Amino acid sequence: MINQWLKYYKWRLLNPIIPCAICKIPNTSLVCTYCLSELEVNQYPKCNYCAKPGADFCNNCNYIIPAFNHTYCDYIYATPLNKMLHHLKYKYNKSNSWALGYLLNKTLSKVKTDTDFIIPVPLSNARLTARGFNQVLELLKYYCTKLNHIPVKTYIVSKIIDTPHYAALNRQERQAQQAIFQVNKNIAGKNILIVDDVNTTRSTANTLAKALKAAGAKRVELCILMRTVIHEK
Ligand SMILES: [Zn+2]
Ligand SMILES: [Zn+2]
Repeated sequence: MINQWLKYYKWRLLNPIIPCAICKIPNTSLVCTYCLSELEVNQYPKCNYCAKPGADFCNNCNYIIPAFNHTYCDYIYATPLNKMLHHLKYKYNKSNSWALGYLLNKTLSKVKTDTDFIIPVPLSNARLTARGFNQVLELLKYYCTKLNHIPVKTYIVSKIIDTPHYAALNRQERQAQQAIFQVNKNIAGKNILIVDDVNTTRSTANTLAKALKAAGAKRVELCILMRTVIHEK
């Protein structure tokens, strides 16, 4: 990760003025102050568990408390961030990953300091091979340029079943797929933060959090870059 730090700061030293990732106007930041102020922010009140905007506790979480204890999320899944993420995930274009990572870093700076490590939501081997990279790890690269960052661990959990249309499954079908994650290490008593790009549905994060809690994790929280406000399941 020191390499990541050196690479990034060498690039920024050589390029003090860069185009804003959104408006393309040259400035000193990955996202300029104006574009930052125009982004759709996930404001309070929002659900303490899943960060859904509207109330301190949403109906879904009141009905069934999720396995994760809290969600950090500052942005709504809306233009231009959703399009930037789409380019990264489905067009394999990493040009926006630093800027999106810069925004994710702002949210990660609010995470509890006693967090032991970060787990990016893993992809199955099939998905990883098809895409060539895990987009969450790409987003975490900017965070990893910070010298005091919480360790990011990719080997703790594996995704052992590919679930290409997981969001489209109904509750019974999703429950039948509980064993999609396998915990590979002893995590007893650890405070863990799961990081994901967007909550298409809370089920993936919830299934992972359940697996981590079953393996002995003390606290499991979630940090997502963006949150959808419709199609909640
Ligand atoms: Zn801008
Ligand atoms: Zn909720």
